[in-house]
Amino acid sequence: MKVTIYIDIYRCKECEACVEQFPEVFFIDENTEKAASKEYEMELTEALEQVISICPAKCIEIE
Ligand code: SF4
Repeated sequence: MKVTIYIDIYRCKECEACVEQFPEVFFIDENTEKAASKEYEMELTEALEQVISICPAKCIEIE
């Protein structure tokens, strides 16, 4: 199942946990200094679910 990834950058705490956990997809955008996703749409994998659950701000959302 493909999902769309949204990151609410106003809630992002710049902790980089998502980047450490899943660097293939998540990175810190140099312009906003907040987390961003390289993928707009991707398969809902266990790795993605794990990143969503560890985000302390709960600001990574999928639809
Ligand atoms: S884990 Fe959440 S709060 Fe931390 S950088 Fe990633 S999106 Fe932002």
